[in-house]
Amino acid sequence: MLSIVIPVHNESDVIPTLLSRLDRVTRQLDVPVELLFVDDGSHDNSVALLLRARQRQPDIRVVQLSRNFGKEAAVTAGLEHARGDALILMDADLQDPPELIPRMVAEWRRGADVVLMKRRSRAGESWLKRITASLFYRVINRISDASIPVDTGDFRLMSRRTVDALNRLPERNRYLKGMFAWVGMPTVTLEFDRDPRAAGKTKWNYLKLMHLAMEGITSFSTRPLRLALLLGLLAAGAGGLFGTWEVLRALIFGISTPGYASMIAIVTFLSGVQLLCVGLLGEYVGRIYMETKQRPVFIVAEDSEDEAQPILTHL
Ligand code: UDP
Ligand code: MG
Repeated sequence: MLSIVIPVHNESDVIPTLLSRLDRVTRQLDVPVELLFVDDGSHDNSVALLLRARQRQPDIRVVQLSRNFGKEAAVTAGLEHARGDALILMDADLQDPPELIPRMVAEWRRGADVVLMKRRSRAGESWLKRITASLFYRVINRISDASIPVDTGDFRLMSRRTVDALNRLPERNRYLKGMFAWVGMPTVTLEFDRDPRAAGKTKWNYLKLMHLAMEGITSFSTRPLRLALLLGLLAAGAGGLFGTWEVLRALIFGISTPGYASMIAIVTFLSGVQLLCVGLLGEYVGRIYMETKQRPVFIVAEDSEDEAQPILTHL
């Protein structure tokens, strides 16, 4: 069985098109399919649309989270609930064309554990987003241990053992791109042209992207901490040398020490660096704190599989 996992957050504009395009594609496949939608706290009629479609099409399953937990949590819920021997992860907004699914399944049949979909083009994305994205990949790959393939999103196929491996990763701060890369497994990469969003609008903004970038950097590398150490060493070295020089100069030429302005400059600069490093440390400490709370990544309010007895898990 193939599970197609789709996180949904207020996507009622695209759901009808999504369902019909998915239907056309899955009909051609010779594997049974489970369409697993994870509703990430939508407050439009996404869920109603999906549940109505489910009456006609019993291979649809809707797992509703108790509130909006964010895409990464929704995907995590999907990975844990899917039962297929292979799993395809895709966005609801049709930026990842469902028509590519047969090619992905063919690669899986040929023995690939992961079929990565690499974007050849990014239609409908502003140049600012492209530049910041490429910069981000460059930074994170320089500093983190598992290298994250450039221009690949979450659109991918994963074999059962890959999904099981992912499900065993216990962290609460879920930076999926990095986790996928960390798990590894034999991978095939296919290229595709990424479409612009079919309808509705993106849920991302630069603040969220920055948060994600920070998450990515801090959860996959402690190298920034070492950078802080290095900065400290450099500053201390320079300070020591300068101090020695000043003492010698005073001994040889007598004392005349103007330089109020340069002193202020150095003091403010160095206290800035110090605050920055404390903040950096704080980022890591905060994440340790969140991890130690051991809270679940998401809460399922309702699962269309066990309709007879909707489970409401309260915190
Ligand atoms: N999404 C989600 N929870 C959120 C935000 C987004 O489940 O809090 C889903 C959304 O419904 C879509 C996918 O994540 O299926 C990608 O979102 P979007 O298209 O807004 O992001 P972009 O493609 O612009 O990066
Ligand atoms: Mg999108």
